Amino acid sequence: MSTASRVHNFCAGPCTLPVSILEETRDELLDFDGIGMSLLEDSHRAPAYDAVHMAALADFRTLAGVPDDYAVLFLQGGATMQFCQIPMNLLADGETASYLNTGAWGKKALADARKVADVHEAWSGADEGFARMPSDDEFDIAEDSRYLHITTNETIGGIRLPGYPTVDLPMVADMSSDFLSRPIDWDRFDLVYGGVQKNLGPSGMAVVIVRRDLLGRSGRDLPSALDYAVQDANDSLANTPPMFPIWVMGKVLRWMIDAGGLGEFERRAAERAGLLYATIDDSDGWYRSPVDEASRSHMNIVFRLPDEDLEKRFVAEAADARMVNLKGHRSVGGIRASTYNALPLESVEALVGFMADFRAANA
Ligand SMILES: *Cc1c(COP(=O)(O)O)cnc(C)c1O
Repeated sequence: MSTASRVHNFCAGPCTLPVSILEETRDELLDFDGIGMSLLEDSHRAPAYDAVHMAALADFRTLAGVPDDYAVLFLQGGATMQFCQIPMNLLADGETASYLNTGAWGKKALADARKVADVHEAWSGADEGFARMPSDDEFDIAEDSRYLHITTNETIGGIRLPGYPTVDLPMVADMSSDFLSRPIDWDRFDLVYGGVQKNLGPSGMAVVIVRRDLLGRSGRDLPSALDYAVQDANDSLANTPPMFPIWVMGKVLRWMIDAGGLGEFERRAAERAGLLYATIDDSDGWYRSPVDEASRSHMNIVFRLPDEDLEKRFVAEAADARMVNLKGHRSVGGIRASTYNALPLESVEALVGFMADFRAANA
């Protein structure tokens, strides 16, 4: 089958995967490495899957530069499950943590944490329409907070923390929408997590990287499915793991290592986002970015047109030109182009070309 029918896909997640990986996955689907069946049909305890699983754990550690004293866990329930699982595992009865409410996801993380622990909102961008990230001196961190929870990139609002905050307590970060798109300073974090369906593979799981000496520290008698210590002791094979996303993510991790690692993906992201922001900024205000310049995301580029009717036509005509999933999130409207790790530069070049033509025809 030819790849000529493939579109430029700017979906916010799940999203584009490298074509070479889709082809390889297809080729292995009927017979994985001579076992006479696919990996999806074999036991998760069999040697074929075990090799794939252990390689993915090792490659994640290599690519992200995870230190030995952190556990890497492959967990079901997506990033959303982590909103409650983190406080359950890290906060003992009566302990607190502080949360930055920087947008749709920071707000959900805080709301779910509140259901299982007494946590504190250290900053809110709600009054400003979540159009910017705060600076470190604006945080109101509750005394005795065990950690500060941050969302490094707000997928819906299109803002990111340009650097990781400097605070004198450990941080916990939801990196779902900029996962492994830039290097991580591990010594600043007790825990980092993300759903893999934006930057790393298909949907169906989250990766959690947590300091091993924190496992079991909440003292809570957790159900086994929610206890990090149980999965760490079993290399994330305590129960049947999400084999398909792990298998494909393993290929993406290898592909990223071979392409040059996180520094290279940070450079590519800046290049893709830079092209889009330059097109917006050079349009005499016809295209408009609603977010603070210093907080502009390199993963989810949001912008507005002069009116909603033009925005509707922009999305429709872009789709006719084979550029899809550009409609902004239903809660904020406008246009959103998501430009994750696997999105080729050519897709962004096609989009900025379309933006110039659309403006010339409609301004
Ligand atoms: C997509 C996303 C989530 C939710 O991920 P699920 O895997 O669907 O639970 C959480 N946080 C951020 C920042 C996201 O972009």
